[in-house]
Amino acid sequence: MTPTSPSTPPPDDLPADADDRTRQIAEHLVALRARIDRAAAAADRRDRPELVVVTKTFPAEDVVRLARLGVGEVGENKDQEASAKAAETDELLGALSEAPPRPRWHFVGQLQSNKARSVLNYADVVHSVDRSSLLKALVRAGAERADRPVDCLIQVDLRRQVPEDARGGAAPDRIGAMAERIAEAEGLRMAGLMAVAPLDEDPAPAFARLAELSEELRRGHPEAAWISAGMSGDLEAAVAAGATHLRIGRDVLGHRPEPR
Ligand SMILES: *Cc1c(COP(=O)(O)O)cnc(C)c1O
Repeated sequence: MTPTSPSTPPPDDLPADADDRTRQIAEHLVALRARIDRAAAAADRRDRPELVVVTKTFPAEDVVRLARLGVGEVGENKDQEASAKAAETDELLGALSEAPPRPRWHFVGQLQSNKARSVLNYADVVHSVDRSSLLKALVRAGAERADRPVDCLIQVDLRRQVPEDARGGAAPDRIGAMAERIAEAEGLRMAGLMAVAPLDEDPAPAFARLAELSEELRRGHPEAAWISAGMSGDLEAAVAAGATHLRIGRDVLGHRPEPR
């Protein structure tokens, strides 16, 4: 993260009582949006992907700062941290006289089946549906909130050779069957695909494979049009491949203590 340059213009939507951290986040958002605009222009895209700011390791106060800056979609990767943070965010927002809308919570991390019910208590989107045991638990928990369906993305493992016991992504040949099951489930909505670029590969061809898999999926499920791809390090490749949702943490909130 480069330090804030004094020449960065202040964003227009800065709250009058903004603290230093709010100003810093606002400046990062301005720079990020410019970066996304450049990536979209380079890819000849007129539309812009949705921005999901990944708030893992950062406090609920930052979620409130983001909400006041107009960021309404936030992502988390651990249920324990996320459920506490969502509750605390609601409390903090409830204490504000002019509160922005409650953010929508995206669960983006590996999810244990026994945490599915807890996640569906606060999350509006689950990006990481990657195996049938988890799906079974989500179907069961989803039936209890059928009035407020959860958007589900199938997380795909984009490695060319996916080991049998892989975690953090389904093999591409599993997408069809999982999509059927999500589409049939009460309380779940089949929204699209998600992937993290493989560590040891150029992200561009990997995201191009994801776009192909998405096209294939949409033949049977035209509503499943979301492509969640792109993080701080590889958003250009994701925008070029047609990502509809970017999941950005560090570029907005700064460095997290490593390793995670
Ligand atoms: C942490 C995380 C992100 C954000 O990564 P940054 O490099 O901080 O932008 C995106 N997706 C997932 C699944 C994550 O766990």
